[in-house]
Amino acid sequence: MTTRILAVEDESHIRDLIRFAIEREDHELLDASNTIDAWRLLQTESVDCAIVDWMLPGGSGIELVRKIRNEDRTARLPIIMITARTEQRDIAAGLDAGADDYLTKPFSPRELQARIRALLRRSRDFDRDEGLDVGPMHIDITGHRVTVDGVEVALGHTEFSLIAFLARHPQRVFSRSQLLDQVWGHNTFIEERTVDVHVLRIRKALKPVGADGLLQTVRGAGYRLAEALP
Ligand code: CA
Repeated sequence: MTTRILAVEDESHIRDLIRFAIEREDHELLDASNTIDAWRLLQTESVDCAIVDWMLPGGSGIELVRKIRNEDRTARLPIIMITARTEQRDIAAGLDAGADDYLTKPFSPRELQARIRALLRRSRDFDRDEGLDVGPMHIDITGHRVTVDGVEVALGHTEFSLIAFLARHPQRVFSRSQLLDQVWGHNTFIEERTVDVHVLRIRKALKPVGADGLLQTVRGAGYRLAEALP
């Protein structure tokens, strides 16, 4: 089955670069130059991954990413955000809105290909397993659902991948760079602080069900998923 990638970008030279990168990987490209057309495509077409520019006519990319995350049908779509902004707080805002990864302009087709590959591999890896139990937490790999004592916890795509990875190795401590390699994929060019952003989001989601203590920081070493609450 062909992989279909939606690119939302208004600058034609960047769109050409994206097209080049995607077609060289034998993926199919759906493109939109504004958020309205993008949203329309998302309602009617099946899409495996989206690349969304930050600055777009008709509403920002950030708003589009939020909208994608808030709709059941598209909530788990892997998303790469493209941005000309290099400030850490801007990048964090993109990830907070629900993007799984970000790429700063200018970027090469090769870099984009590596990001897409890593993101698609992550979403496919998780289609093969069944379920994992860690303490009160149950992770339904096929259904992409996390429950704590039967209550569902809403997690984004990357948060789900991260917690599922940690749940496969309960109690084991992983450094930020190990997590980037294992969850985001080798050859990614992401800063280690990205891991912290996603960990915070997982804890925030686990807090209402009283399970945030399961995801523990090991000072100077990294993170681990504990089998029992402290
Ligand atoms: Ca733009």
